[in-house]
Amino acid sequence: MSMEKQAVERARTAFLTRRSRPLEFRAQQLKALQRMLKEREGEICMAIKHDLNKSQFDSALFELVGLESEIQLALEKLPEWAAPRPAEKTLLTLLDEVYVQPEPLGVVLIIGAWNYPFALVIQPLIGAIAAGNAAVIKPSEVSKHTARLLEELLPQYIDRDLYPVVNGGVPETQELLRQRFDHIFYTGNCVVGKLVMEAASRHLTPVTLELGGKSPCYIDKDCDLSIVCRRITWGKFVNCGQTCIAPDYVLCDQSIQGRLVEGIRHTLLEFYGDDLKTSPDYGRMINQRHFKRVTALLEGETVALGGESDEADLFIAPTVLTDVPPHSRLMQEEIFGPVLPLVSVGSVDEAIRFINQREKPLALYVFSYDSKVKVE
Ligand code: NAD
Repeated sequence: MSMEKQAVERARTAFLTRRSRPLEFRAQQLKALQRMLKEREGEICMAIKHDLNKSQFDSALFELVGLESEIQLALEKLPEWAAPRPAEKTLLTLLDEVYVQPEPLGVVLIIGAWNYPFALVIQPLIGAIAAGNAAVIKPSEVSKHTARLLEELLPQYIDRDLYPVVNGGVPETQELLRQRFDHIFYTGNCVVGKLVMEAASRHLTPVTLELGGKSPCYIDKDCDLSIVCRRITWGKFVNCGQTCIAPDYVLCDQSIQGRLVEGIRHTLLEFYGDDLKTSPDYGRMINQRHFKRVTALLEGETVALGGESDEADLFIAPTVLTDVPPHSRLMQEEIFGPVLPLVSVGSVDEAIRFINQREKPLALYVFSYDSKVKVE
């Protein structure tokens, strides 16, 4: 029997003991996770640093603080979430006692991505534990240091049979996907998302897919460009642009492109100093494949800022491109790197048409003083 199948069977056997159900047990496991975050913060940040050169400050802010508040919320709300809810009687249920009782689903699979390698696994795990499920955890093999640490740490803090960690690459994930789960929670790109959904359909397993997309940013002429530049520089270049809801591209009037570029240049200097390569706050691309993918997107484009790269160090400088044609390759796929294209539009209506012609984005950022523009 494969290791993956064994892990799923172990989790199911543990689930069938019913020990994951009592609220006291769920709360105790959540508190153990909370303790892990506190006691092992240094090791967690170090593993993420090895994977992505993420600073301790960014790891604490983006990977740990949110988890702490998520655990706190689950601990506070657990009795309310698990309690039966009243339901209206109908003709069919007139003689019955009717209520809706939330129930654990069973054994769930959590597949993580590498860009926030710790949070993207622990966040769904908090939900799974709070709901009384067992969970098989599959961290991304791409962020290998964090994957190894998760496998080492989790069994020291939470029930090792209910929540096994399976490490491995595509073949191991595929083998996991052949097993029957009661829910699959996947974070990652859309291509693999379709494979996950296809595999789940064989067992009629419901899925939650946390996918990517091209999140637009519309900048109106009527706004404070210094605020815009600070916010975009932060959101786009943190984690070297490898954030699912980072502004992917900017739509704005041609006349403000120059001021935007200068504002971003100025802000980069303030955030990272004059030597980005030695800045402890600037991240790196996760691996050579993604480095090559992003640098190839620059070919033939007009670089107004940045553009430097160093493959040996997986470094790509924060880069801004101007006058990017809507049909360029850069505009066909999620960039997922520190490259920001500025695309000219003549009006807010044109920006709306542009966005509506494409796939639904994960987020949309609008900068304008005009409240009519914001609600459009
Ligand atoms: P990835 O390469 O780590 O893949 C994700 C997982 O899929 C891994 O665990 C991997 O083992 C598995 N996998 C890869 N190929 C597979 C295959 N052929 N069959 C079965 N499993 C396979 O991560 P990624 O996809 O590069 O992650 C980046 C993407 O995730 C971006 O598109 C980003 O926008 C998106 N993302 C979304 C969110 C969100 O909350 N919506 C959060 C973070 C990232």
